Amino acid sequence: MKVLMIAPPGAGKGTQGRLIAGHFGVPHIATGDLLRDHVTRETELGLEIRQFLDRGELVPDEVVLEMVRGAFEQARGGGYVLDGIPRTMEQARALYDIAVELDMTSQVALHLQVADAELVRRLLTRAAEQDRSDDTEEVIQRRLELYYEVTHPILDWYGERGILVSVDAMRPADAVGRQILTTLTVMQQMTDADPDVTRRPIDLTGLGAAFGAEASEDVR
Ligand code: ADP
Repeated sequence: MKVLMIAPPGAGKGTQGRLIAGHFGVPHIATGDLLRDHVTRETELGLEIRQFLDRGELVPDEVVLEMVRGAFEQARGGGYVLDGIPRTMEQARALYDIAVELDMTSQVALHLQVADAELVRRLLTRAAEQDRSDDTEEVIQRRLELYYEVTHPILDWYGERGILVSVDAMRPADAVGRQILTTLTVMQQMTDADPDVTRRPIDLTGLGAAFGAEASEDVR
């Protein structure tokens, strides 16, 4: 399974990314984790990266793309779950070029939808539990702003490519996870049978009730 995730901060990419990776036995490539690892190890690059993370700004494209290329080369021939990239249209195009070169283009672009008020609530809860320098109210607002400005618009591109699946991620993590695994299993069978199949974007956000909870109405 080759899947990338697009979602605002706090939507649950990390939780669902780990679940997908474990289920399909593929690496979970999370750009935020790779970047924070550099900061923790205090590498030269880490010192530079920290300036961006602390302000909620995006790290320069060449830094993240280089990391992802390395991770893709290690995962070559198999699947992956990409978490945190692409975040801009430029990254989406560059990532696509790398994936074409390594014969690893994504089968699914998974979009997790969550309303802003819930995102802020989750991120502030996480701030109280973990020590992430970017989970302060001011930096969270900046990360959300950037998401809607430069990341959210990429979804249309995946829609046009026919690999977009949107899921209502307002529900409890296990219900969201069940829906994701079911959907990915079906998508995998479809794309394995016919990799060139042209599909329309799939919107499952109204299906929440079938997976154990009421669908939420106030998601963007
Ligand atoms: P979240 O999506 O919850 O904000 P992440 O752990 O994915 O958390 O990312 C944390 C930070 O790492 C981002 O705010 C950004 O500064 C940086 N970052 C992660 N991925 C990228 C990327 N693809 N391009 C640029 N910066 C990135």
